Amino acid sequence: MHYLLRHRDVPGMDSLRVYLNQQGYQGLRRALSMDPTAVLDEVSRSGLRGRGGAGFPTGRKWSFLDQSQPVRYLVVNADEAEPGTFKDRELIEHNPHQVIEGALIAAYALNAAEAFIFVRGELLQGYESLLRARNEARQAGYIGNHILGSAFSINLSVFRSAGAYICGEETALLESLEGKRGQPRIKPPFPAQVGLYGKPTVVNNAETMANLPVILVNGGDWYRSYGTSDSPGIKIFSVSGRIARPDNYEVPLATPLDTLLYEYAGGPLEGHSIKAVIPGGSSVPLLVPKNFGVSLDYESLVAAGSMLGSGGVMVLDDTVCIVRSAARLLKFYRTESCGKCTPCREGTYWMAAILERIEEGAGTMDDLARLPDIADNVSGKCLCPLGDASLPFMLSAMKHFRGEFIEHIQEHRCPLASTLAHSA
Ligand code: SF4
Repeated sequence: MHYLLRHRDVPGMDSLRVYLNQQGYQGLRRALSMDPTAVLDEVSRSGLRGRGGAGFPTGRKWSFLDQSQPVRYLVVNADEAEPGTFKDRELIEHNPHQVIEGALIAAYALNAAEAFIFVRGELLQGYESLLRARNEARQAGYIGNHILGSAFSINLSVFRSAGAYICGEETALLESLEGKRGQPRIKPPFPAQVGLYGKPTVVNNAETMANLPVILVNGGDWYRSYGTSDSPGIKIFSVSGRIARPDNYEVPLATPLDTLLYEYAGGPLEGHSIKAVIPGGSSVPLLVPKNFGVSLDYESLVAAGSMLGSGGVMVLDDTVCIVRSAARLLKFYRTESCGKCTPCREGTYWMAAILERIEEGAGTMDDLARLPDIADNVSGKCLCPLGDASLPFMLSAMKHFRGEFIEHIQEHRCPLASTLAHSA
């Protein structure tokens, strides 16, 4: 049974008619029967943590919003661009009303004057699906003035971005939404004080929003019956790479990684073995097989040396060149760096160049020694998380698979050059 990917069980959930038949907008009805602070309390009781990557408790984030200002905004972040992560995409394409209902619940709890959904530019199908759902919901009286006969009124806009990874960072997103170049702002002030158009703003992830109707219908205590005390609830994990059944899987938090890999996703491709997994999108350290029994919750993954991140589980098998993977990811971060601060702009450029050189067999042992030195000059010295996000995979790859790097250097070629994944 699904609570988030409900369209997997019920076809046509992107239409209002079907969504209403499946208890659609019942969470909003319950929210409107409560005081906004009671809605915030219910969400806090559920223990829901933001599903965009940082995992910050949603209720606590809401409580930071400056309520002394007369105008406040809610922005839903559907700018999903983390490599290996495609959960928000499925939600907005196939279950858009649940994301919109969650946004309306959040807007009510926050006393927001206006709500926005910011969609990654490349996700055209999701954008159009959200627009259709928004229009249906507006016509039916779920968006607009005096929603369901209450005193609550709100407009909800769907915005399609130009498409840039950095716009997933909340302040770059706000800049882009204001029509400016998508570059991060210096914090503080934080968006909860000075956000969109200078007004207090909460930015929440699309999957976070999709959890809210479920919590309002079933209660925060019910939600807490899943997962652990610090990582409660359910979560979508996007499984991709060298695996039998790549897909999105909705599971309770604390499900073991090996259960997700071998039972749900069917294990490695025939004749191959999994040598590493990136469990939380491209910005977290990889895990090696001895850690595959780890529980998929925020604390256990940190204890195992990685992070839950966005829940993008990327599988690397014995045909995958770790050096090439590291070079590809650094190239991605180099390309997506907005260039505003020097450590990220220059650091990602030099690390990508060195990794490409090693991958091509032209690297030296000095190159290998230089990488952690450059990483040290990036780590903690950037304006936004992108610079730091470029480091964990590379550093963990050098720690667990140092031999592969040295082989490339000593043999002047990739030792896996003839294998399927490498040549693909
Ligand atoms: Fe831009 Fe990178 Fe600096 Fe972030 S860390 S502000 S992406 S240059």
